[in-house]
Amino acid sequence: MSARVLVVDDILPNVKLLEAKLTSEYYDVLTASSGKEALEKVASQSPDLVLLDVMMPGMDGFEVCARIKQNPKLAHIPVVMVTALTDADDKVRGLEAGADDFLSKPINDTALMARVRSLVRLKMALDEWRIRENTASQLGVVDSAAHVMQESAEKARILIIEDKEFERRKIEETLAHDHDRLVSAETGSEAIAMAGREDFDLLIVSLNMTREDGLRLVSYFKSSERTRSVPILMIGANPDMGRIAHGLEIGAHDYILRPVDRNELLARVRTQIRRKRFQERLRSTYETSLSMALTDPLTGLYNRRYLNVHMEKLLQKNQDQKKSLAVLMLDIDYFKKVNDTYGHAVGDEVLKIFAHRLQDKLRSFDLVVRLGGEEFVVILPDVSEERAHQVAERLRAAISDEPFACPSHAKPLNVTTSIGAALIGPEAGLDSARVLERADKCLYEAKQGGRNCVMFEGIGRLDPAKFKEIERKLVE
Ligand code: GH3
Ligand code: MG
Ligand code: MG
Repeated sequence: MSARVLVVDDILPNVKLLEAKLTSEYYDVLTASSGKEALEKVASQSPDLVLLDVMMPGMDGFEVCARIKQNPKLAHIPVVMVTALTDADDKVRGLEAGADDFLSKPINDTALMARVRSLVRLKMALDEWRIRENTASQLGVVDSAAHVMQESAEKARILIIEDKEFERRKIEETLAHDHDRLVSAETGSEAIAMAGREDFDLLIVSLNMTREDGLRLVSYFKSSERTRSVPILMIGANPDMGRIAHGLEIGAHDYILRPVDRNELLARVRTQIRRKRFQERLRSTYETSLSMALTDPLTGLYNRRYLNVHMEKLLQKNQDQKKSLAVLMLDIDYFKKVNDTYGHAVGDEVLKIFAHRLQDKLRSFDLVVRLGGEEFVVILPDVSEERAHQVAERLRAAISDEPFACPSHAKPLNVTTSIGAALIGPEAGLDSARVLERADKCLYEAKQGGRNCVMFEGIGRLDPAKFKEIERKLVE
């Protein structure tokens, strides 16, 4: 799928010129000739990039940009402002309105294409996270209205790689405005060592060092695990345009031309920092929401949703590798009475201790799930029937043999559990629901049979005395 670019300019020949250039590079081009039309098209066509003229009658480019960037639904769409003005103040104003870049007319083709490609690539990566976040917000766990302009751009950790002291000091003085924490390196090896030791929010790389090739460093940072996703801002001179384009191509995020304008530097740095923090936030909310969607907050165990997905994989593996797994279904006996007698809070504590004891008695690759209420499922992958019996009986004893010391209740409580279990061989056509049903049927029999016991499918009630003997021998 080719990326879609919206070109906005009130002068038709300008639109046509950009349209021709982009079309020849296989972009899908949309056009608008006023700010109003631009906003309509941004909302209805969701372009991957907007090339926006500044000087337009009515609503100018600054305002169009600000409106896009203030709308949480649209703020992720990159905007490049295009203008005949060369005044640094306008550049800064555009960047502060949230523009992702600023190009001056006449547009340098190399710069334009490198910029378009790198911004489209960035947008695609962000879109990926936004889709996942969207799924997460459907699960009701994240705030999807967050957008990039809300991120703080201050107190960032920045590594400056520049061997000219005068230039370095200028950068440091400028960034001191935002209370950034700055570290400087004069050589490539120094920079590589520093970037390997700590995490940075931004790397500023000079392309004009005497003893070092800045592009080589950019390429190194993009390929190293620790720095791969850290934004890179290149500093170069106009004759370096070819190398700058190459830098953008291999993954640098932005550049600034010498002589460095302080405000422009500040604005570009802020854009990069905000974007990085926004991306990190998307990733971390995604990860938290994922874990919230798959685990039970009270006990920290996996939940039913996870079990269903995971069980299918285990059953497949059973079949492929001709192995057997055991499914144990556990239900606390007379748990309602615990709640009724000691209160819900003590009930919760019992559930936590119960969960903890199960995990404590199992191997790391056994799976423990809280199915809901006081019902738990344990899966033992790759076990023999004998071992499955032994573990089931061990779990039952782990609950009943030692009273539960609940923090909110002075006297330890006697708790027991009933267990229904089945050994599942490499049979075809099984699914998670069928397998759980089999264990559940045995659990029902265990309750009927007097509780605090293990009922194993095809075997019946296990004899605790026999297993106590086995456990005792294991310990010796
Ligand atoms: P049985 O031996 O037949 O299993 O009896 P029981 O009382 O354990 O069974 P029942 O299913 O009737 O009661 C389960 C109780 O578990 C009812 C419900 O209030 C309680 N419960 C469910 N979830 C929670 C929870 O998260 N915390 C607490 N404290 N109680 C819970
Ligand atoms: Mg119960
Ligand atoms: Mg129950």
